[in-house]
Amino acid sequence: MSRLEIDTARLPVLLNELRLPAICRMWADLAARSDKEGWPAARFLSALAELEVSERARRRIERHLAEARLPPGKTLDNFDFTAVPMLSKAHLMALASGDTWLENGSNLLLFGPPGCGKTHASAALGRALIENGYRVLFMRTTDLVQRLQAARQTLQLESALAKLDRFDLLMLDDLTYVTKDQAETSVLFELIAARYERRSLLITANTPFGEWSRLFPDPAMTVAAIDRLVHHATIFEMNVESYRRRTALGRKNNATRHKSEAPAAPP
Ligand code: ADP
Ligand code: MG
Repeated sequence: MSRLEIDTARLPVLLNELRLPAICRMWADLAARSDKEGWPAARFLSALAELEVSERARRRIERHLAEARLPPGKTLDNFDFTAVPMLSKAHLMALASGDTWLENGSNLLLFGPPGCGKTHASAALGRALIENGYRVLFMRTTDLVQRLQAARQTLQLESALAKLDRFDLLMLDDLTYVTKDQAETSVLFELIAARYERRSLLITANTPFGEWSRLFPDPAMTVAAIDRLVHHATIFEMNVESYRRRTALGRKNNATRHKSEAPAAPP
């Protein structure tokens, strides 16, 4: 057995030990090509390194997409910006690049009636941010509050909040659906205070601040929470009619038009 054969026989073990699965899978093909085309050794080595790095980036994005629990199928591409004139595509695309707002822990607040596209726009933004290397978690606010309440009961609230720090952006969908008894434990306030000026929050809500008194145990806390949320925030007021309703009406009108355009039935 030649020296070369002995070395390559051990390669899978070595590459596995070094945690280089992409190189392990691809080196043989690339080596054959490199031999055939007479690549310098440095080119071969850097091609392998590039391969592993891009595989890693792909796997990381896949992991971050899975952990984010975004509603599926909602992207910037399939969001109809003409339906929401106050939400500019350019602005959302700029936010999707992350930039300074996530580094500064600034917030994004989306207000509007049911069906106006708050959840869709948020999920689409989240997906784009993950593709740009950020970590995001999407949750219904009531679910998150429930989780934090459970943590508080076992004296683990602080560590539960600290765990959420790994997300550059925490998306709280439907904030105003928090119930009165959930509000009493004030974990929502603790969350807002803990992330203030450090980690970003995205909040969607059907009702603007005037009706938030239900969400917190007392008026002072409501004011303090809103104050922290808006101090560094972009606010989108999406006051448009429900997209669901509009598309349903569109279909109905279309159907009626088609019916009236159809040739008259023979007598
Ligand atoms: P909200 O969260 O404001 O209640 P959603 O984001 O859930 O509204 O939107 C309701 C439905 O309408 C979803 O299926 C969503 O994908 C769709 N939708 C809403 N706005 C748009 C839009 N501008 N373009 C495309 N689909 C939209
Ligand atoms: Mg929604």
